Amino acid sequence: MKKPFITKRQAEEIKKKYPTPFYLYDEKGIRENARRLQKAFSWNKGFKEYFAVKATPNPSILKILKEEGCGVDCSSLTELMMAQRCGFMGDEIMFSSNVTPEEDYRLAGSLKAVINLDDITHIDYLNSLIGIPELIGCRFNPGGHFELENQIMDNPGEAKYGFTRAQLSQGFKRLQALGAKRFGLHAFLASNTNTNAYYPKLARLLFETAAELHEETGAPIAYVNLSGGIGIPYRPGEKPNDIAFIGEAVREVFEEIMVPAGLGGAAIYTELGRFMLAPYGALVTTAIHKKEIHKNYIGVDACAANLMRPAMYGAYHHITVLGKEDAPLDHQYDVTGGLCENNDKFAIDRMLPKIETGDILFIHDAGAHGFAMGYNYNGKLRSAELLLRENGEVQMIRRAETPDDYFATLEF
Ligand SMILES: *Cc1c(COP(=O)(O)O)cnc(C)c1O
Repeated sequence: MKKPFITKRQAEEIKKKYPTPFYLYDEKGIRENARRLQKAFSWNKGFKEYFAVKATPNPSILKILKEEGCGVDCSSLTELMMAQRCGFMGDEIMFSSNVTPEEDYRLAGSLKAVINLDDITHIDYLNSLIGIPELIGCRFNPGGHFELENQIMDNPGEAKYGFTRAQLSQGFKRLQALGAKRFGLHAFLASNTNTNAYYPKLARLLFETAAELHEETGAPIAYVNLSGGIGIPYRPGEKPNDIAFIGEAVREVFEEIMVPAGLGGAAIYTELGRFMLAPYGALVTTAIHKKEIHKNYIGVDACAANLMRPAMYGAYHHITVLGKEDAPLDHQYDVTGGLCENNDKFAIDRMLPKIETGDILFIHDAGAHGFAMGYNYNGKLRSAELLLRENGEVQMIRRAETPDDYFATLEF
């Protein structure tokens, strides 16, 4: 069973001050999970998680993660600016961008961020802009299909990212000629994986490639970046990934491949987003409308502009009706927002307790790629983001948009 991290009473208290819809994040859950990750990879001296800022770009969240020893993974100018304003500097920032504008590389350079190149043409492009730093990484795209346990996980051959294997060899040599001294290797081959086997399999590919490149070019390997992709159980009953097991399995592959290759000093980096935040954030919304036509609908005060994953990917987000946690699931509803788009549904044919207007719905696992993907279609405004502190207090960490914000960029 999925349990909300607040009760109906807490939600009603919060709602008095901050009207729904709002995002609520659970500081305790975020910290405990970050510590589990750190522990799982503590065998690696240089281990660092670079939280993927795009998943939950909020300074208060980034500062919590910073206190837990994390850096940040940025991929745009404003993400770099946010990292800077939160006090991240130098090798606390990984810059894993693609189709990168000049000014983005310039800022990454002046922050001394670790730059992870997405394309071989970016070697000379970066060189002409800011020169080649001593430490630099390249993103690998092996092409083909990425399979795990005889199942196709994803399709790198269709993905726009990274260098081919041949380009890595060529690129490392070019980078050495331009003054690079220490190298990193990165790949992101499958998203939201729900198997403990993803990281170890990816690690094997990257470790073997790193060892080959080291052998071929003599390039010292400073780090291997396993990037994001560890998933979470969105559906009740799904088994969560076991991060301790994953860390240990990556260690075994590291000792098998990296240590004998003379690369035992390399750091392991991760750029997890979803795994770090998704379960520890919820979209809290109130039922404001009941409609019975060919189907039964519950209309809520949030919409796909607040959380687009169901509309965009058909993603499942579990819903708990607060105060009815133990009530029988004997009513079938579509739970919808008010956009003039029929895909604006948080749930379709979902079995839920009987819902009345005024009931508060807790939409689970929205802490990553949730608020961040919000938009203003139909003139809908972005909600507030709130943080449930460890001491039980609720702090506003982003105010809700107002109509003035919506009109701010327009000329009349
Ligand atoms: C999106 C992204 C991540 C995070 O992915 P998750 O699925 O949230 O773990 C990490 N690195 C890069 C380069 C990304 O684009």
